Amino acid sequence: MISIKSKREIELMRTAGSIVYQTHQHIKPMIKPGANILDIDTEAEKFIISKGAKPSFKGYEGFPNATCISINEEVVHGIPSNRKLKKGDIVSIDIGADYKGYHGDSAWSYAVGEIDDDKKHLMEHTEKALWEGIKQVKPGARIGDISYAVERYANEHNLGIVRELCGHGVGNHLHEEPDVPNYGMKNTGPILKEGMVIAIEPMLNLGSDDIVVEDNDWTITTLDRKPSAHFEHTVLVTKDGYEILTGE
Ligand code: MG
Ligand code: MG
Repeated sequence: MISIKSKREIELMRTAGSIVYQTHQHIKPMIKPGANILDIDTEAEKFIISKGAKPSFKGYEGFPNATCISINEEVVHGIPSNRKLKKGDIVSIDIGADYKGYHGDSAWSYAVGEIDDDKKHLMEHTEKALWEGIKQVKPGARIGDISYAVERYANEHNLGIVRELCGHGVGNHLHEEPDVPNYGMKNTGPILKEGMVIAIEPMLNLGSDDIVVEDNDWTITTLDRKPSAHFEHTVLVTKDGYEILTGE
């Protein structure tokens, strides 16, 4: 069952989403060569709590931290550690906030200082793939329309699509129905209705789409060790289109 949110629930989700967006803006200036990623995680957690929310990821299926911080070949679910960012890295930070039981979920990839052209290509086109997906959202459209738009755009730009992971419904659970895959066919899958909330989140690789799970049982990396990027917004289906809950 895909839940339809009430007015009250949508208000809570707007607040949760706004806290996620503000947390990204708050930690962005910390992303520079030499930064310790655990410090970024700690600061994000403090900020989320200061806004009256809780970090959605901490304790989720045992995840140890407030944020997922994934560097270069790490696709998602990087665990914050004392590792330091280096010039030329790209770092994907995934943040969730739980405000009075309702979640917002947004990941963004950031450049650490100057990055090479391959990484610029990857970041630019993974973000644009997200927007291609978001543009499909309106009542009557289907999940497959989003999936197809993301896949087509990724293929046009020669990026590998991580297929094992996908977007999802969001509400009073961080992950709800439906799945929102980053590949698929138009006119297939669940039909979107006003009041549904979904997270759209392309995870695209500069190289092949093959991934492996690291020994910590969380972190997913590309098999060929080439970089991966991740952009995600939580999006509400409105009467005639969409509203991004984790945006400005
Ligand atoms: Mg998500
Ligand atoms: Mg996320």
